[in-house]
Amino acid sequence: HTSWNLEETAARRDRYYSASQRKFVPFRDPMVFRRGEMQYLWDEKGRRYTDLLGMNVCISVGHSHPDVVKAAMDQAQELTHCTTMFYHPVPAHFAEELTATMPKGPNGDIEWVVHFTNSGSEAIDLAMAMARGYTGNLDLLALRTAYHGPTSAAQSVTGIAGWRHPGMPGNVAFVAEPNQYRGIFGRNAGAAPYLDEIERVIQTSTTGRVAGILVESVQGYGGIIEMPPGYMSGAAERIRAAGGLYIADEVQSGFGRTGEHMWGFESDGVIPDIVVMAKGISNGFPLGAVVARREIAEPMAEKFMFHTYGSNPTSCAAGRAVLQVLKRDRLQENAKQVGGALLKRLQELAQKYPAIGDVRGRGLMLAIEMVSDRGRMTPDADTTGVVFEACREAGLILSKSGPHRSCLRMVPPLCLSLADVDQVAEGLDRAFDKARKGQG
Ligand code: PMP
Repeated sequence: HTSWNLEETAARRDRYYSASQRKFVPFRDPMVFRRGEMQYLWDEKGRRYTDLLGMNVCISVGHSHPDVVKAAMDQAQELTHCTTMFYHPVPAHFAEELTATMPKGPNGDIEWVVHFTNSGSEAIDLAMAMARGYTGNLDLLALRTAYHGPTSAAQSVTGIAGWRHPGMPGNVAFVAEPNQYRGIFGRNAGAAPYLDEIERVIQTSTTGRVAGILVESVQGYGGIIEMPPGYMSGAAERIRAAGGLYIADEVQSGFGRTGEHMWGFESDGVIPDIVVMAKGISNGFPLGAVVARREIAEPMAEKFMFHTYGSNPTSCAAGRAVLQVLKRDRLQENAKQVGGALLKRLQELAQKYPAIGDVRGRGLMLAIEMVSDRGRMTPDADTTGVVFEACREAGLILSKSGPHRSCLRMVPPLCLSLADVDQVAEGLDRAFDKARKGQG
């Protein structure tokens, strides 16, 4: 028997969850989610919400998408799990299909290989180990407002203080994020000063020879920070000059989310050495992957490296269905069109509400940054919280992100429609209006 009662669920969580897991409740008055269908969720009372968070970016093609569920269920019924050491065609096919989405390079000769993991942070760990092993260098660079996951290694390259616990490994130097709204070099400073800063940090804070740099092609938890034109390719150039590799974290920005491309790094023409993916890869079934150039992944074979659920055929069957649905339903194009329409509506809201300091993003990866003083760009976590709760009352689920928790982040399933955009914009309008009146 499963109790769907809200109070009982709350009581069980309070009693049986560890503090860190219990604490992670975004809403003042939480709900129990009972059902999902495409871009919508229903709570235990039957109330419908539009999921602008895609269950934290995991739901790429839609909640309980029938094709993905069928693929996974068919596989689970036949053979739920088969570890990597035994042969199974489903993960092997999926590896082939994933590598087919990668750039081939100017001579068409780049060979990509896949290592499946259980999660995104494990994929980050592995990418870090690969880069260190391949280059023989220890020092890694990461961005100050980066988020790469909860494992010790992934925390060590996560720059946002609130996600860093004591006892992480070292050998990581942070560079300023090229934030075009409030970055250290000022508004719309472009890529150049931030690329100089990479060179400077390599000289001042590393041995001079580095293992690599990790870059989210669009930062997620950092508050949807886009990399300005020339940044990703310039960073790759500078890091390679110091002996390192360019590692693209596509955990949030991948699988067509940015609208223009399958992978966020493609917008800058950079070809990474290692690409990390998870979340949207399998529409909610647990899975992560490192996709690397063959020669970089090869040295890892000298020692064992084995992720128990890494090539789980149920998750991989879901992943194969995701790729098919993305293509068949032209969801990348939809992300571009619907995301563009939503961005326009957010820009209109920014005209109306001075509490909106910035509106940014691309495709279906968007954010509103809230400020208490537009001129000074003072981050306003309190108003963000008020709008966030009012959004929930308007039937919208989104997230509070950014180092100051002053950004409203939107990363919905890629099937969001133009009709949803109207409803979302109206809901946001009401939420901002409520926050303004509350303050007045
Ligand atoms: N990288 C990025 C950009 C992420 O957003 C996340 C998860 N929020 C991770 C890595 C870690 O993935 P996981 O939670 O699956 O370990």
